[in-house]
Amino acid sequence: MGVLVRSGRAWLCSAARGVFPCLWRGNYFGTGNERAEKNPATPMLRHLVYKIKSTGPITVAEYMKEVLTNPAKGYYVYRDMLGEKGDFITSPEISQIFGELLGIWFISEWMATGKSAAFQLVELGPGRGTLAGDILRVFSQLGSVLKNCDISIHLVEVSQKLSEIQAVTLTEEKVPLERNADSPVYMKGVSKTGIPVCWYRNLQDVPKGYSFYLAHEFFDVLPVHKFQKTPQGWREVLIDIDPQVSDKLRFVLAPCATPAEAFIHHDEKRDHVEVCPDAGVVIQELSQRIALTGGAALIADYGHDGTKTDTFRGFCGHKLHDVLIAPGMADLTADVDFSYLRRMAQGQVASLGPITQQTFLKNMGIDVRLKILADKSHEPSVRQQLLQGYDMLMNPKKMGERFHFFALLPHQRLCGGSHQTEARLSRPSVAPVAGFADLAWR
Ligand code: SAH
Repeated sequence: MGVLVRSGRAWLCSAARGVFPCLWRGNYFGTGNERAEKNPATPMLRHLVYKIKSTGPITVAEYMKEVLTNPAKGYYVYRDMLGEKGDFITSPEISQIFGELLGIWFISEWMATGKSAAFQLVELGPGRGTLAGDILRVFSQLGSVLKNCDISIHLVEVSQKLSEIQAVTLTEEKVPLERNADSPVYMKGVSKTGIPVCWYRNLQDVPKGYSFYLAHEFFDVLPVHKFQKTPQGWREVLIDIDPQVSDKLRFVLAPCATPAEAFIHHDEKRDHVEVCPDAGVVIQELSQRIALTGGAALIADYGHDGTKTDTFRGFCGHKLHDVLIAPGMADLTADVDFSYLRRMAQGQVASLGPITQQTFLKNMGIDVRLKILADKSHEPSVRQQLLQGYDMLMNPKKMGERFHFFALLPHQRLCGGSHQTEARLSRPSVAPVAGFADLAWR
């Protein structure tokens, strides 16, 4: 961990970062639920109305999947929704320090687990590539530490538009991109620092080598099923056409049990729950891979530990947006249930967290990093931007307490092979995992 301090260089990244006020998606009280005035008959709405008329009401999960990732009309497929001109902002877009500290986390885990000769960094849902870019800058600056380590970057991205933006962020035009839409590796390039970068649509297609996995604000976009407890038992919330108003959608309850009910935990106490089977599939894949080849997964998102009920919401133009209005024009999201992720790891790996973003970044040394950057910058506007970014990431009333960090690690990493899968903090006798324990700066 001392490495960041020892490097005396100010690695100020020139890229302009978040301008405030922008809305981050963990927020759902701040601006009130602004219902869109109009309900434009978007191509997605027409598609869904046709589908529901043909086969009946659809689950919320099917709705989210269609609206967000339908290959022809999905919200994520053809637009850049991030940043000031988009619909919401994320931590890496706010401050370069965020990605730098995550880069340090991966290096720290790589060092703690024996400095393997090679590793893959696999990012799920990389957005504009800003986070990966900041991590790669840290890898490059710490080249003396990582020297001779064979690193490759693997990006799992369904969005054509965002994959193009990622390529611009990460690669240099000098080395042309290789494209093959029909291959599981649909694009290949080389980063500005000479590291190979590959793009996939599915995690399953990423080679199974020693890897560090990263998912920042990825799990919250995966489709959730919603259930309401009724006197007759659990009933799934479905989406139907409003019989009073043409081209308007509404929520209804399924008249009888639906198959997805199997995902509800047998001793569930809440009366309304959201479950995300796709998140379970990703966690199982990550757990199997980590148990088999080592490495780690770092997951950061807004969420709860199995306590919240109705969190399904939409964002458009930095405002909360009615989820059933103008589908395809707004982002849809639901809080991540970390207790479900932990359960889906099924004891194959150990988990740490969730702990708040404020605690994680503090433990990673955000204050030291901020001071270094602020001291080295001579422009008042840059200093102000750094301080504003810090406040946005760390303030408990902003992103500091709404966002959480959660990690999956091989059992041996935490306690020499015992199955303490639900440890919230690593035991003091084993090498601490950066961020999840208060590390002493050397
Ligand atoms: N991690 C980025 C972007 C978060 S937005 C950041 O923090 O800035 C969610 C990202 O996940 C986008 O890149 C989106 O295109 C991608 N995505 C959404 N659904 C996906 C899926 N099913 N598989 C892979 N990527 C997906």
